[in-house]
Amino acid sequence: MKCPICKKEIEDMKYRPFCSKRCADIDLGNWFNEKYSFVAQEVDEEDLAQLANLAENEKEEQDS
Ligand SMILES: [Zn+2]
Repeated sequence: MKCPICKKEIEDMKYRPFCSKRCADIDLGNWFNEKYSFVAQEVDEEDLAQLANLAENEKEEQDS
């Protein structure tokens, strides 16, 4: 069995299917980046403006 990240033979079964915690973390990071870029594409400027308005409204409610 080989590590999908670094392609080395896996010696420590603790981190299967990766060879080490480092490679498991790298895979998690890759997955997270993919998710993040997907989300970023979905958000357009109009949505960002709405979010900004919501944040403003919340601030005003807290002040009063
Ligand atoms: Zn590895």
